[in-house]
Amino acid sequence: HNNITDVKLKGSIRVYCRVRPFLSSKSGYLSIVDCIEDGNITINIPSKNGKGCKSFTFNKVFGQSATQAEVFSDMQPLIRSVLDGYNVCIFAYGQTGSGKTYTMVGPQGLTEKNQGVNYRALGDLFMLAEQRKDNFCYDVAVQMIEIYNEQVRDLLVTDGSLNVPDANLMPVSSTSDVIDLMNLGQRNRAVGATALNDRSSRSHSCLTVHVQGRDLSTGTVLRGCMHLVDLAGSERVNKSEVTGDRLKEAQYINKSLSALGDVISSLAQRNPHVPYRNSKLTQLLQDSLGGQAKTLMFVHISPEPDALAETVSTLKFAERVA
Ligand code: ADP
Ligand code: MG
Repeated sequence: HNNITDVKLKGSIRVYCRVRPFLSSKSGYLSIVDCIEDGNITINIPSKNGKGCKSFTFNKVFGQSATQAEVFSDMQPLIRSVLDGYNVCIFAYGQTGSGKTYTMVGPQGLTEKNQGVNYRALGDLFMLAEQRKDNFCYDVAVQMIEIYNEQVRDLLVTDGSLNVPDANLMPVSSTSDVIDLMNLGQRNRAVGATALNDRSSRSHSCLTVHVQGRDLSTGTVLRGCMHLVDLAGSERVNKSEVTGDRLKEAQYINKSLSALGDVISSLAQRNPHVPYRNSKLTQLLQDSLGGQAKTLMFVHISPEPDALAETVSTLKFAERVA
């Protein structure tokens, strides 16, 4: 293939890619994603002189038939790290409709089999904590926030006082506790959505799991946390078509996604200056990006030809964070 771009990252930053299947309403198209093998993906890009293509390399690529369980199994070492006292960030990036929420949460009509990363991560965390209970005592608590137009909103409060940066920290002791809280968070997110429809695609949502483990023999305490972030849709808007609030939203999203890209690319290049201050998201996650922390950028793409421009732009983002 021509133009092989290596987006594999060394050290503590990894980049994965998932291609979602065709949606039934769009079947009959040819996929623009040509081949997927061993971390490589090739995109067909129509050009004047026939068929052009460009290949990208990732730490891992999941094709259209990858199951939720397969996707999660590659993340399991990160869950173990959290119990060992590391901070972890997992980001789902991609245009609206590319499958970010499917990966992190699951589809509508959730069953155990199609549960996304958030549920599985918590399930694993409690399972591992149980396995270690003779040596460690773990406390787990979760927060759920949304960042919309650079404002932080606590999704785990049921009444008034939203927009608080010090979000409620809710202790949990089982996966079902977490499911209850995630449902509450989703409902609160929906409340915000009445004024502007489909707000979820224009805000970042972040489920944070804090783990504190006490070594029962030495009394040493280890703290780790995991941020599971479903990012706002990365699609660019046509400035000539949107104005007012919609344009402002788009500019905030654009600014925060590029700030995130800048932070991760500085870290990947071991640049001594990391520009955390340029967005709310990177400010909030500063302690979990860089240093000993582990980051997984999980980019999502759609296989349909009409998504080509956004797919290429998503893959270029992945290239940039390398
Ligand atoms: P996003 O959160 O990026 O906007 P969604 O996760 O909502 O996208 O996915 C868009 C649609 O595609 C949903 O109907 C979702 O159920 C479906 N979908 C996404 N990824 C997959 C997948 N891997 N397998 C089956 N259906 C998927
Ligand atoms: Mg979504």
